[in-house]
Amino acid sequence: PLVMGIETSCDETGVGIVRGHELLADAVASSVDEHARFGGVVPEVASRAHLEAMVPTIRRALDDAGVGLADLDGIAVTAGPGLAGALMVGVGAAKAYSIATGVPIYGVNHLSAHIAVDTLENGPIPEPAIGLLVSGGHSSIMMVEDLAGKVTQLGASIDDAAGEAFDKVARLLGLPFPGGPYIDRAAKEGDRAYVEFPRGLSAAKDMQKHRYDFSFSGLKTAVARWIEARRADGEDVPVNDVAAAFQEAVCDVLTRKAILAAQEHGVETILLGGGVAANSRLRGLASERAEAAGLTLRYPRPKLCTDNGAMVAALGSHLVAAGVAPSQIDFPANSSMDVEIVSLANAL
Ligand code: ATP
Ligand code: MG
Ligand code: FE
Repeated sequence: PLVMGIETSCDETGVGIVRGHELLADAVASSVDEHARFGGVVPEVASRAHLEAMVPTIRRALDDAGVGLADLDGIAVTAGPGLAGALMVGVGAAKAYSIATGVPIYGVNHLSAHIAVDTLENGPIPEPAIGLLVSGGHSSIMMVEDLAGKVTQLGASIDDAAGEAFDKVARLLGLPFPGGPYIDRAAKEGDRAYVEFPRGLSAAKDMQKHRYDFSFSGLKTAVARWIEARRADGEDVPVNDVAAAFQEAVCDVLTRKAILAAQEHGVETILLGGGVAANSRLRGLASERAEAAGLTLRYPRPKLCTDNGAMVAALGSHLVAAGVAPSQIDFPANSSMDVEIVSLANAL
C-alpha cells in the first residue's frame, strides 16, 4: 500500500510517504530552534509552527515521492499522545485531505509508530518482539504481539522518561537543548567509569515489584548533587566524564531490563525505538548484550528514531496491509492516548 503519514505531536512537522516497507519521502520541518532559548518545547509556539509548515511539508513530501494524493491508499496521522494543540493541526490537516480525496484516514499512536518505523530499515517485524521505547516523554518495555493491534506494556518509567533525563542532565552540564545528542557527543570523549551513578529500580527488592520499570529522577538528582559538590569545592566539572557516566547508568538499566523481558517471555527479537534509540552507547551496549544472550537486536537509523512522518506512514502501511479498519472521520486528537492503543480503528 501507498500511505502518507503526518506527524505533529511535538515540535516536528513530519510528512512521510511509504510504499509497503519502502520509504519514498521523509519531509520534516522542525521548530526546535524557536524553543531552544526556553530550554523546552513551548506548546503554543509549536502549534503555530505546525500551521505554517503543514501544507508546504505535505507538498514537499508528495514531490519527493513523485506521487499524487489520488494515488494514496491511506492517510495516517498521529492521533496522540502529544501536545493537544500540536496534534490538532496534523489531525485537522489529515481529515481535510481525506475528505477532499476520499482516501481513508488512520488515526494512529505515536509510540507504536516509533516501533513500526523499524520496518522501513529492516523489513517485517518478527512477532512477538520486545520493543524498548525510549523517547522524550516515554520509556517503556512493550510486548509487540501484533503490530497491527496487540501491543502491551510490560513496564515503564515511574517518573522521568529517558529522553527527559538526558535533556535535564544536559542542562545541568550547560549543554544546549535538546540535550540527548550533545551528551552522546560529549560522552564519546569521556570515561564512563568516572563515577558510578545509581541504577534506578535495579536492587533486588525493586526487581520484585518493578521488574520492567525504570526510574530516572533519582539519577538526575544524583548527577545534580555531584556537580554541586564539585563546584562547592571550587573545582571544574569534567563535562565529558559526567556525560559518559550518566549515559552509562541510563543505558545499563535500559538494556539489562529489555533483555531480561525478552528472556523471561521467550521472545527472540528486541527493537529499539524513540529519540533515545539514536544514542550511540545504547545501540552499542544493546548490541553487545543481545549478542551475548543470543537475541536479535534491531534499530532504525538515527534520523528515523526522532520524530518524523515516515514512522507514521510505516505504521499506516502496516495497518492497511493487515486489513485494519480505518478511523471514523470525526475521531478526536488524544493528548494522553494510551500506549496500548495502536490505532483508532472504527473509533469515533
Ligand atoms: P514521545 O515520543 O515520548 O512523545 P518526543 O516525541 O518528544 O516524545 P522523540 O522525538 O521521540 O521524543 O525523542 C526526543 C528525545 O530523544 C529528546 O529527549 C532527545 O534529547 C533524545 N535524543 C535524541 N537523540 C539522542 C541521542 N543521540 N542520545 C540520547 N538522547 C537522544
Ligand atoms: Mg523534537
Ligand atoms: Fe516521539
